[in-house]
Amino acid sequence: MQINETQLAQVNDRIRALIASNSFYGKKLEEAGITEVKTPEDFAKLPFSEKKDLRDAYPLGLMTAPEEEIVRIHSSSGTTGTPVIIPYTAKDVDDWGEMFKRCYEVAGITNKDRIQITPGYGLWTAGIGFQNGCEKLGAMAVPMGPGNTDKQLEMMQALETTVLCSTSSYALLLAEEIQKRGIKDKIHLKKGVIGSERWSDKMRERISTELGIELYDIYGLTEIYGPGIGINCEHNTGMHIWDDYLYLEIIDPKTGENVPDGEWGEIVITTLVKEGAPLIRYRTHDLSRIIPGECPCGRSYPRIDTIKGRTDDMMKIKGVNVFPSQIEEVLAEFEEISSEYQIRISHLDGKDTMRIYVETNGHVDFAELAKRIADRVKSKIGFTPIVKVVEIGVLPRSMKKTARVIDERFD
Ligand code: ZN
Repeated sequence: MQINETQLAQVNDRIRALIASNSFYGKKLEEAGITEVKTPEDFAKLPFSEKKDLRDAYPLGLMTAPEEEIVRIHSSSGTTGTPVIIPYTAKDVDDWGEMFKRCYEVAGITNKDRIQITPGYGLWTAGIGFQNGCEKLGAMAVPMGPGNTDKQLEMMQALETTVLCSTSSYALLLAEEIQKRGIKDKIHLKKGVIGSERWSDKMRERISTELGIELYDIYGLTEIYGPGIGINCEHNTGMHIWDDYLYLEIIDPKTGENVPDGEWGEIVITTLVKEGAPLIRYRTHDLSRIIPGECPCGRSYPRIDTIKGRTDDMMKIKGVNVFPSQIEEVLAEFEEISSEYQIRISHLDGKDTMRIYVETNGHVDFAELAKRIADRVKSKIGFTPIVKVVEIGVLPRSMKKTARVIDERFD
């Protein structure tokens, strides 16, 4: 996927605005002596922007449009340090609503639907984003916000809401509660639009079965409008991204180079038409890949895979970018092993190697099982690990997930 002419022209507009407003990125461009980009190669040389840049701009350093045009701000909570504040113009709010409306439409939601919105309202972009799109679509918003499960279920029944917007964990909680109270026949939900936190197929399957609904994954982040910049379609082959508003790249997080379509890496986003706080080549630290080829639905919007985690989790083995969740997925295919595993990465004879320790009981042929797992990793991920099968109970038990991956390399 390469940046096209229209997108390049839009980037140049943003570059001019950023330089004129003397923002952090405008300064970066001036230092690099860049005033425009003419080719995709020029674009690939533009400096990245980072969360740290955004924090340093606190409170309103990102403001790129004149103050009188700013109608709203949002803020990312951020677990550590200074929050990030993103100013929006009326057009930004409108564009975001259009993108979100498109998400609902792709999910087959119409103005006849009643949409129960459980993400939070406020500084955060969640609830209000779902709301904007819903109103643009002309559907009926039921703006619940988070929590108060009794009230949620009461409204869900009384108003016969047909769409649930929530996080995956809250959807699961509601599903279990509906099951427990035996009120499934009073629930009219048909679809769920779920925020893009990482969730397993197992969890997805459970929510979908228990509630009897179709699930859609929505992507977004506060720095780039908020949720609603992409969603999966009925074929569930990745999330379509609205490339008339955004240009998305996948890079190798270590080298910063673009990776070929289909390969995993870090999502980098450029906003093409944002006015209040345009971002050029913003590093999201989210891991995904561009899904090559065309979607059976016929939509030409590019697709990315479900978010697999954060760049901090990424490992590079024999030239292949790998992260723990991929290994976890392969291991989940083997019923004969326990849930415990350990991944050790070391540097031997100039090469990175991965050893995977798994547990099983004494009834299976350890060597044969090890070979089958190694072959499966090779075919699914692209390199052959060393697999060691041990007796159940041998691996250390820990509540901490990080202890499953041990990197023994010296950089
Ligand atoms: Zn599609």
